[in-house]
Amino acid sequence: MKLHDSLRRATVDFQPQSPGEVTVYGCGPTIYDSAHIGNFRTFLVYDLLHRTLEWKGYSVRFVVNLTDVDDKTIKGAAEAGKKLEEHTDPFARAFMDDAAALGFLAFDARPRATAHIDAMIRFIEGLVASGHAYRTEDGSVYFSVESFPQYGCLSGNRAESEDTRSRIDQDEYEKGDVRDFVLWKAAKDVDRRVGAVWASPWGPGRPGWHLECSVMATDLLGDTIDIHLGGEDLLFPHHENEIAQSEGATGKPFVRFWLHVKHLTLGSEKMSKSLGNFFTVRELLDDGYDPAAVRLSLMSAHYRSELTFTRSGIDEAAAAVQRLVDFKRRVTDHPTAPGAGVEERLDLEAHLRAFDEAISDDLNVPRGLAALWGLVRETNTVLDAAPEGISDESRAAVLDALEQMDRVLGVVELAEASRATDTGDQQRIQALVEARNDARANRDFQEADRIRDELAAEGIVLEDGVGGTRWKKTR
Ligand code: AMP
Ligand code: ZN
Repeated sequence: MKLHDSLRRATVDFQPQSPGEVTVYGCGPTIYDSAHIGNFRTFLVYDLLHRTLEWKGYSVRFVVNLTDVDDKTIKGAAEAGKKLEEHTDPFARAFMDDAAALGFLAFDARPRATAHIDAMIRFIEGLVASGHAYRTEDGSVYFSVESFPQYGCLSGNRAESEDTRSRIDQDEYEKGDVRDFVLWKAAKDVDRRVGAVWASPWGPGRPGWHLECSVMATDLLGDTIDIHLGGEDLLFPHHENEIAQSEGATGKPFVRFWLHVKHLTLGSEKMSKSLGNFFTVRELLDDGYDPAAVRLSLMSAHYRSELTFTRSGIDEAAAAVQRLVDFKRRVTDHPTAPGAGVEERLDLEAHLRAFDEAISDDLNVPRGLAALWGLVRETNTVLDAAPEGISDESRAAVLDALEQMDRVLGVVELAEASRATDTGDQQRIQALVEARNDARANRDFQEADRIRDELAAEGIVLEDGVGGTRWKKTR
């Protein structure tokens, strides 16, 4: 398998450091607000990588952190008049709910920064002792960029930039070098108000955001990890700083492969919490979108290519999801007639090979999806040519190929889960849909609306189209 490593700026063969085992760390959400679907474009790549590695037979240890103490969470808590944890907790839960709704495999660990403060303090002590960090008058500790000559290796950014200035705190007045970044922040009033203060050898304070990831990553996965993930905005300074801190502390290479996901845009703008132009997964699901369609739409472009959010993109994905579900049902329900003689036309291996090659080429999911559609098309042609039936072996082989691809994509299983209603239930819902259509035909709109509302209360949404009314379950 090849992956694009941002550090080498090249797509290179991936081999884990220990044969058969892969360690992965992904920067998780800052839980001062709900994650939006831009964030989830990035997180979905985490899940696709997770699934791909497992599909290839690796034993994977996958860690995604929750940033529950930083400038934004403290500001959010202070504005809400809450304690830090009280403010962040619901967003942590929302993140896990959204991840589950989109069919993510469970991460092996979801560390919260506040649960690793002791390790962070020890880590900083090490950096101070080895001359990579220094304390300032006010009781903060900074990393000395000058002490780490490789600084800038990831981003190429060796001098101070506008970006650095905007990301770092305004009141860092005692730094030795303008590039130096904070590891430990002396407590301010607002930190005390929300309860974001811990005792340390340098006085009361709290860790800096960059440091948190270095410590959680090395603590849970060891000094050198195989793959580190994040959105493209994290490359500098966050990941650059993670390298400086971690390698400064351990003297070993920190990360073997750096992967960065391009941002989801809305129109020409990046979707972001600070711009306010965002949708959450929950909002889209509440609007009646099929979670499998949201998932599929977020993987419709390669992770290093542009992807723009549109509702019509989700609608297209929804139609594709329905085609996949219908396809699986057609294969399952097609009659059995051994020896019909058309099945040798099916070259399932070729489709699986094409799929594997695509996914192994730096997670080229769009090309993998093309291989999936190739399987669907060819199978449909064979089923068309064999209306009398196919052998059970062929049926099983097609379903197995579909299942293999879906172990990586996770779309069909998610679609089926959200459609899982028993047949009795389906008949009851269908009867209500028909009653509503009768009411509309009789211009009894009050009754029609009552039935729609009754179904909506169960999480069932109706779509009136040219071919009639379709319903779908959204939760
Ligand atoms: P945050 O909650 O801001 O710390 O971001 C969590 C993750 O989402 C990080 O890896 C970000 O790089 C990523 N991210 C933020 N905005 C977007 C976006 N519009 N599209 C894709 N990923 C994003
Ligand atoms: Zn991080």
